[in-house]
Amino acid sequence: MTILSFPHDAYTFGGRPIAQLAAEHGTPLYAFDSQRITQRIADLRAALPQSMGIHYAIKANPFLPLVRLIAGLVDGVDIASAGELDLALKAGIVPERVSFAGPGKRDSELAQAVAAKVLINAESAGELLRLAAIAQRQGCQARVALRVNPAFELKGSGMRMGGGPRPFGIDEEMIPELLASWSRFGNHLAFEGLHIFSGSQNLNGEAIAAAQRASYQLALKLAADAPAPIRTLNLGGGFGIPYFPHESALDLTPIIAALNEIALDAAQRLPQAKLHLELGRYLVGEAGIYVTRIIDKKISRGHTYLVTDGGLNHHLAASGNFGQVIRRNYPVAIVPAHDVEKVGSSDTANTERVSVVGPLCTPLDLLADNVALPHAMPGDLFVIFQSGAYGASASPQDFLSHPAVLEMLI
Ligand SMILES: *Cc1c(COP(=O)(O)O)cnc(C)c1O
Repeated sequence: MTILSFPHDAYTFGGRPIAQLAAEHGTPLYAFDSQRITQRIADLRAALPQSMGIHYAIKANPFLPLVRLIAGLVDGVDIASAGELDLALKAGIVPERVSFAGPGKRDSELAQAVAAKVLINAESAGELLRLAAIAQRQGCQARVALRVNPAFELKGSGMRMGGGPRPFGIDEEMIPELLASWSRFGNHLAFEGLHIFSGSQNLNGEAIAAAQRASYQLALKLAADAPAPIRTLNLGGGFGIPYFPHESALDLTPIIAALNEIALDAAQRLPQAKLHLELGRYLVGEAGIYVTRIIDKKISRGHTYLVTDGGLNHHLAASGNFGQVIRRNYPVAIVPAHDVEKVGSSDTANTERVSVVGPLCTPLDLLADNVALPHAMPGDLFVIFQSGAYGASASPQDFLSHPAVLEMLI
């Protein structure tokens, strides 16, 4: 089964004409559709085994109104900094439902996390030692899970985060000894479980299912040496969304089969464990658009350029510079500035080949390379779909000192 991707409608978004949104709020603009996010999470929950929790990884989109919405729909959130901790608490999430992963957590961040009583996914033996000292100073126990760097890797992932040497997590080979010598942390660390995250932006359901099975088997093996029963098992995420014409929506069938087996087995063998997935992009990526206005149209040696008022400073990923190996065009559209009622009118059927660039003085600021688009003029809008994840917060907004992008939840 696949949870249906949302159709790209060039004229309306979240039930509002895009031209009207732009006229009212100005451009550049990110708009996020609360109904799509709610629908996506409900569909996913209906497909997953009942005992499987859903966590949201805030880094995918930390826009506060959006985090607030999601907080009411998921079982927990994953944070990666003290800043995201503040955001999670501001969004109304109770600390028991927050887990904190990420390499290079500062002492001040660990202290804040211990005081807030969130679960800390430890990334190294050194971090555990610092954490124990901080908990001792605060006269309390820190809640800890070990982030495991598994020996297997998730095949076909956009960004690989497991297998081989990695800055993330503790190598699985080192964990039995670490668990066996847990007493060296005094009684300052309360062991709660494991976190196994092996990749991101994967559209191969079989590969994700295989990684989940391997993660579960690894958790069972490591649980044998644990100083306490596993109470939380984070099986990672990695669910991708389709960005490019040759890609199709993730087939959840093999994943659901694997998770059903795992949930059933875990009820017997890890009876105290709460299992969950941690997802970012899959929950929000399809629920956002980036809207820019065309400022200039020019022809250089026979090639037509549309120049917009926003670029990689707001949407680095669409320019192909956010970890992509090959630059590809996101799904895009032209929205005429004025003819809001003339939806589908015939003059937009005439296309021309253009490249769309942002306002920055760098050849990297390319939003669409040599695409066929309806004839557009300065004043018209250029829209990028699939822009709900890794947008503003994952872009160098200060580069060239253009205004910050406005974000809104509809
Ligand atoms: C980034 C990240 C995620 C979210 O990844 P998506 O590809 O957006 O789903 C989840 N967990 C961890 C540990 C991460 O670092």
